[in-house]
Amino acid sequence: MEIYDHPSFNMACRQFDLVADYLQMDESERDRVKYPKRSLTVALPIHCDNGSTRVFTGYRVQHHLTLGPTKGGLRYHPDVTLGEVAALAMWMSWKCALTGLPYGGAKGGISCDPTKMTRTELERLTRRYTQEMMPFIGPQVDVMAPDLGTNEQVMAWIMDTYSVHAGCTVPGIVTGKPVGLGGSLGRREATGRGVGYLVNRASDTIGLDLTKASAVVQGYGNVGSIAALSLARYGVKVIAVSDVQGGIHNSNGLNLWELEKYTATRMTVVGFPESEPITNDQLLVLPCDILVPAALERQITETNAGKIQCRILAEAANGPTTPEADEIIKQRPDIFVLPDVLCNAGGVVVSYFEWVQDLQSFFWGETEVVDKLFRILETAYTQIVTLARKQKLPMRMAALSLGIKRVQEAKRIRGLFP
Ligand code: NAD
Repeated sequence: MEIYDHPSFNMACRQFDLVADYLQMDESERDRVKYPKRSLTVALPIHCDNGSTRVFTGYRVQHHLTLGPTKGGLRYHPDVTLGEVAALAMWMSWKCALTGLPYGGAKGGISCDPTKMTRTELERLTRRYTQEMMPFIGPQVDVMAPDLGTNEQVMAWIMDTYSVHAGCTVPGIVTGKPVGLGGSLGRREATGRGVGYLVNRASDTIGLDLTKASAVVQGYGNVGSIAALSLARYGVKVIAVSDVQGGIHNSNGLNLWELEKYTATRMTVVGFPESEPITNDQLLVLPCDILVPAALERQITETNAGKIQCRILAEAANGPTTPEADEIIKQRPDIFVLPDVLCNAGGVVVSYFEWVQDLQSFFWGETEVVDKLFRILETAYTQIVTLARKQKLPMRMAALSLGIKRVQEAKRIRGLFP
């Protein structure tokens, strides 16, 4: 499918092909399970605050609709393309299937730089995007959530725009909303909290004492900052973190509570007292026990995969490791990989809880949310580790094959119309 041509889409296809070979998937089934079902590209004209008009491009890709509505984040970033969004939608499908959620994967995005736009411009852009998406989304069709560059406020604008058109409040149209609008307690923290939980499980598996362990986190946004705090609560010393502007390092450990206050006003980690500056490239190869890429795709490549120095690679971002890097990491049994489709699944699991709560208008306490989240992650982790050990598979192959097989079986049972 040339319209999706992009390095991340090609990477997702390559990962799929490897799994399809392992599963000995029939040629006649492969394309049906692999390619996105449908996509929409829209032009988004908005009034800017300086009186000019700008046109942005927005996308939404729905990968498959076999198991229920599609579910996936909305990304605001200058590099967003249809192909990148399609890759992210595919990964969402395997993630939902492997955690047993009744969803297909989706993803959306707008090619824009939210850091260079005013709040009112972002609101107009979000509302216009929602308007253009109206025939393509719905609480039983496709449900959005925050991703890179978007947050609770963006979800609130989407919900409001959709509800105004529907003539009634429709909280189930998005997840990751503010709690006061029908959001779930524990959703904002869910992805990072899940990363912490799974690193703790992985440390049991490989016999690593977390109270003596160190961690490095690339990307200090929603996922990275909560993952760092969650690791610190397990006793881990976080020695380096970064964002798009650069990184900071302190081998004695960073004071994350002070860092939280610092980033709240400065909007960057750069310049944090009691730390040395470090580049994102240097950060990824620092010696540490736990490396958490929590920013963008394709950060661990054939160039740096041989140089990373960690015991656990916890993929909080989507698609941070290329297939070429995977080949190198496969030769390094010292590294235990928590693959993205498992490692960051906490976000979509609690999004699912939010959607269920919205549909029932019956809300749960945070303890209930966290308890149910950990149960789902525990089941997925155990199934993947068991399969990996039994079949001598890398963790990514085990995770993806569980997810892909479930989608394949559902398609087979439903049959092909007409
Ligand atoms: P975010 O926008 O809150 O934070 C992203 C962080 O990455 C920011 O600190 C940003 O400065 C940094 N960053 C951007 N480009 C960078 C670069 N080139 N080098 C280093 N840092 C860079 O986004 P988020 O919601 O935390 O998402 C981060 C990753 O986690 C993405 O891959 C996203 O798809 C994935 N993810 C997010 C969720 C969720 O619930 N938000 C769920 C699953 C997966």
